[in-house]
Amino acid sequence: MTSLELGPPTSRARIRRLREKLLGWYDTNHRDLPWRRSRDPYAIWISETMLQQTRVETVIPYYERFLARFPDIESLATADRDDVYEHWAGLGYYSRARNLHNAAQMMVGDFEGRVPEQAEDLKKLPGVGRYTAGAVASIAYGQPEAVVDGNVIRVLTRLLDIRSDVAQKNVVERLWHEAGALALGERPGDFNQALMELGATVCTPRSPRCKPTCPLVRMCHSYAKGDVESLPNKPKNKKPRPVEAVAVWIPRRERILTVQRPETGLLANLWELPGGELPPKAEAKDHVEQIVRERVGLSLLSPTYAGTVEHVFTHLKMQLHLFRTAGAEGRVRNGGHQAHQWIAPDRFDDLPVSTLARKAFELLQ
Ligand code: SF4
Repeated sequence: MTSLELGPPTSRARIRRLREKLLGWYDTNHRDLPWRRSRDPYAIWISETMLQQTRVETVIPYYERFLARFPDIESLATADRDDVYEHWAGLGYYSRARNLHNAAQMMVGDFEGRVPEQAEDLKKLPGVGRYTAGAVASIAYGQPEAVVDGNVIRVLTRLLDIRSDVAQKNVVERLWHEAGALALGERPGDFNQALMELGATVCTPRSPRCKPTCPLVRMCHSYAKGDVESLPNKPKNKKPRPVEAVAVWIPRRERILTVQRPETGLLANLWELPGGELPPKAEAKDHVEQIVRERVGLSLLSPTYAGTVEHVFTHLKMQLHLFRTAGAEGRVRNGGHQAHQWIAPDRFDDLPVSTLARKAFELLQ
């Protein structure tokens, strides 16, 4: 143990050494990512929003395409909502796109067309929580603000050997406190990125590359204990709740009916084929006509079952039973949907739709 630099977890001298080692490592080892080439707070805010819940490799082409179409706050704030969704399509969690659009409008209205500099102001924007506010304030403006994401949680719990359940409020607060102490000092934005980069590339969930790669190995309490991979201590994920629903292909004069989901809730604002959730334990074929009548006001002409597609959301496992029909009688009413349109099937791909709606469309087409 004497050869290790272990000391009181948060002593000033230890924090200084840790910062030096990690920044030195980051300077020579960080990945060249497009948003790291930019100092533009707008671009950094877009990248941080896209990176929530989405992998770096997935984000890169979306980030480049989004910035090419909406290069600044003004162009995003004045864009059509559907245009924003189209440039987000495929990234999932569409509420992020809606929040970006609303936040850009708020920046124009309340922040003189700029990305706010202070974390407290950033948190007033829709979709900007503690993490994103800290990331943008530190990376774009050099403010000594902390970030705590999954990577930081893993590095800090291992480094400090924090064995309590990381979902507990007091543990979360402790991690923010530790990250805050570490962010104080030179180059807080680079330091925060270094911490996240270490978690993403070295201090990985399985088989972390402690020796010889990790610059912090001599300071790492869980490594000294020989028990790294059991951290962080996370509660077991709950199983997603099973839900069943129906969707119907309703043709009329070479077009099909599509509807737009409500402004809030699951898959907000996205377009899909009409249908709705089934009552528990109900048979799809017994309820499809009633659901369509209630949701869009149409009476289906002999619907026939065509297949089922499945999609797992964070908390839901959705089984969507699909039906074809020769047509439907009546006028469309928006019962719970925002809007509807009859479109040529080859235009379906132009709409902002979820992965589940696309799976349904592809099966039925
Ligand atoms: S020594 Fe291993 S466990 Fe500790 S911070 Fe480095 S990679 Fe993570």
